[in-house]
Amino acid sequence: MTWYEDLRPCDWWHECSLCEDARGPMNIIFADRTLRLGIRNLFVPGPEAVYVAPSLIFHYIIQHQYCPPNVFRESVMSCPKMNSNEYFSMINHLEG
Ligand SMILES: [Zn+2]
Repeated sequence: MTWYEDLRPCDWWHECSLCEDARGPMNIIFADRTLRLGIRNLFVPGPEAVYVAPSLIFHYIIQHQYCPPNVFRESVMSCPKMNSNEYFSMINHLEG
């Protein structure tokens, strides 16, 4: 699963509103990479749309037991490698 690789900047810094002592993690280490959370979005092509989620979805799932909708989870699991030709082809097809 490599969908985490394509984290694009969003327009604002997003902090976890559920954590009372802290504002959620600033970084996450995954597959030997350190990824900044809260300032990027995930773009996941699905069967009929491109799903966009804040990068803090990692934190919401792990720390707050958030369970995204089935269609999002299935789209993540079937998403081709980010930045690959297949990935951009799916995004372009859904946008067109
Ligand atoms: Zn939190």
